[in-house]
Amino acid sequence: MKAEIMGIGTELLMGELNDTNAGWIATRLPPLGITLQWVTLIGDDLAQLTHAFRQGMERSDIIFTTGGLGPTQDDLTREAVAAAFGETPAVQDAQVTQLQEYFRARGQDMPSHNIKQAWLIPSAQFIPNRNGTAPGWWAERNAKIIISMPGPPVEMQSIFRDYVEPRLRELAPPEVTLTRNVKTMGLGEAAVDEIMSEYFGHENPYLGIYSKADGIHLRVIARAPDQAAARKMIAPVEQAVQDRLGEYIWGYDDETPEQAVAAALQSRDKTLAVMEFCTGGFLTNAITEANDAARHFRGGIVAFGPESLAASGVPPKLLENHGAVSQEAANAMSAAALTQLNTHYAIGVTGAPGPAELDGRPMGLAYIAIARATPAGPQVIRELEIRVPPRRITIKRRISNQALIELRKLVEAGE
Ligand code: AMP
Ligand code: MG
Repeated sequence: MKAEIMGIGTELLMGELNDTNAGWIATRLPPLGITLQWVTLIGDDLAQLTHAFRQGMERSDIIFTTGGLGPTQDDLTREAVAAAFGETPAVQDAQVTQLQEYFRARGQDMPSHNIKQAWLIPSAQFIPNRNGTAPGWWAERNAKIIISMPGPPVEMQSIFRDYVEPRLRELAPPEVTLTRNVKTMGLGEAAVDEIMSEYFGHENPYLGIYSKADGIHLRVIARAPDQAAARKMIAPVEQAVQDRLGEYIWGYDDETPEQAVAAALQSRDKTLAVMEFCTGGFLTNAITEANDAARHFRGGIVAFGPESLAASGVPPKLLENHGAVSQEAANAMSAAALTQLNTHYAIGVTGAPGPAELDGRPMGLAYIAIARATPAGPQVIRELEIRVPPRRITIKRRISNQALIELRKLVEAGE
């Protein structure tokens, strides 16, 4: 089945609101055997909406819409679905009663404008909405389906899960789409592309390559009659990725660097501390995104400049000799964090936060150090100089991710 998603609302076209609904819906379609082929943003304009629905029904089996189901005059999704189907909406008394009860439960009278939310056309059914006043519409005619859902993500998502998904599952053809995402770090996109070149360009299983803040991802997608068959198609490609890029692989599917670190440390009962400079707390924040981070993470010290580095246990003499942005500083930071927080491992991360250079070191140049505890005191087991594009958020993300992935590698290797 072919589908499209339409995000409805003039604010989407004005750049005032970012469409997150389409991406969310898109991730849920492959397991239902539904192929998404278009995503469109449309303003609150009856003629444009009607045109879009008619066009959509020519090229797709299902149209998902979000937005435009509010009570106000500018919300026109219902009117446009009715126009595209050539039908006239009529007020449904049972739905009016429900709306009145919704408002009464909140000590209010139903505003007269909300009556629109009790409209229905003969070809449509209501989709109940537990979280708001706007019910969705499931409109179906001549084997074409328009599924209209409210714009607020919380309402849309629960409607989708509770009602739309189960109903689509009944319609689904005997085909599933399965995805395996392999995450690497350490090689550039072009290098990975070359290594895997003979696997690209096939339709099923399909291999895609994506550059992300946590490295290069390879995504294998297979369509087959059932999960087991799809898994069988993915296996040889995944094996090839494993054989050729094994040492660079750090995770799979939805795994994040912080989860990978959490799993590696917790399974060995090891603890972690960090001291960070140019990442401004981002590394600490990332680590604490992992579930039960408290089991392995003892704390992060955020130093922002030579003064706070010195105050956090980095010898002032070392900072004078080598500068705050140096491998020596990163090493000392990791050792200081490890000693102060008494952990098995510690990460030190330093770099010029920008916008100007610091001691002649440009923004985007950073040093990572990883230390471990030994009976003789902290020992640095990994030194790394990296350069990332000089944008603050990129610096924070890339450096944090790289530090975590390096740590995970060392921990897994039993270092
Ligand atoms: P509407 O149903 O058009 O009245 O939309 C109500 C609210 O839903 C908007 O103000 C947004 O907060 C949210 N919303 C609508 N469309 C989207 C979308 N495509 N992505 C994310 N949020 C949305
Ligand atoms: Mg709207």
